[in-house]
Amino acid sequence: MPVATGLGERERRIAEAMENFAGKRPVLEPILRVFGNILMEKARVADRFAGGGPGDLDLDVSRLREGVPLLAGVSLEPVRDRLDESFEAMAAVLGRSFTDFEQDLARLDGIRRAGGLDLVRLSRACLEADRRAFEEAAEFFEVQAGFLGMMTACVLAPVLEAVAMCCADRVRESGWLKGCCPVCGSMPSISYLGQGPEPASEFLTGGGGQRYLHCSMCGFEWRTRRNMCPACENEDKDRRLYFQTPDEPGERVDVCTQCGGYLPCLDFRESTLRPPMDIAAIGMVHLDAWACEKGYHPLANTSWNQVV
Ligand SMILES: [Zn+2]
Ligand SMILES: [Zn+2]
Repeated sequence: MPVATGLGERERRIAEAMENFAGKRPVLEPILRVFGNILMEKARVADRFAGGGPGDLDLDVSRLREGVPLLAGVSLEPVRDRLDESFEAMAAVLGRSFTDFEQDLARLDGIRRAGGLDLVRLSRACLEADRRAFEEAAEFFEVQAGFLGMMTACVLAPVLEAVAMCCADRVRESGWLKGCCPVCGSMPSISYLGQGPEPASEFLTGGGGQRYLHCSMCGFEWRTRRNMCPACENEDKDRRLYFQTPDEPGERVDVCTQCGGYLPCLDFRESTLRPPMDIAAIGMVHLDAWACEKGYHPLANTSWNQVV
């Protein structure tokens, strides 16, 4: 299917990658289309916000050197209007994508219009992975907790992505090495290997290339130690394994036998193609299914790895 015209650059790249992965793995086409459309809307909203800067958040980049993510404990109150605007955009695409949740969505939208949906509070619960807060809110609003969580993540993501885009250079200068995102503190959804500009560095521990992590929430990408598990920081190569299928040597899933976490990984060292990482993660969801079957868990829960 030809990619629609009139799209922004990032949306066009998502649409193209969606077609490529669907062509390669027809069985994944429905899931690629559903989440591809959501990702395109997120990119559109994030680009719009990024044009206006990071918002009036109280950000202190010097905390990064102490290992504290930029948004840790920072009030999201200054981006309340952006969250509301994001809700309107994301609700439209979620409504089209998940007809089973039509009623829940209409209910939440009604509550929001009446001023009863505290998106700042829900967003904070989302960043802190506070399941209890979602269960309580869902009971109060009489909607499903899983849907409320997914909805909040979809609304928050483009707001934080705009922050990440605006602060990227300053964050990269901090030399952050941890496994969680330096911007929002979330765990990565996928990693990739690429040829880095500094071949002789402490990041190289054999095999060549540099490893980057992609944040599951704000999409920020940062370099990390090549063999470190982002969750438990284990670097013992006997407890770090990876699996791949022989026909796709550039796609694999890394697993950590110490904490039981897994993370899909794309190898770009010999490739000029760079699909947007979120759509690539969806195009590799068969590896998620494999890892879950073997008893490993994802480092980050995403809306797509929850459906495999
Ligand atoms: Zn992040
Ligand atoms: Zn681990």
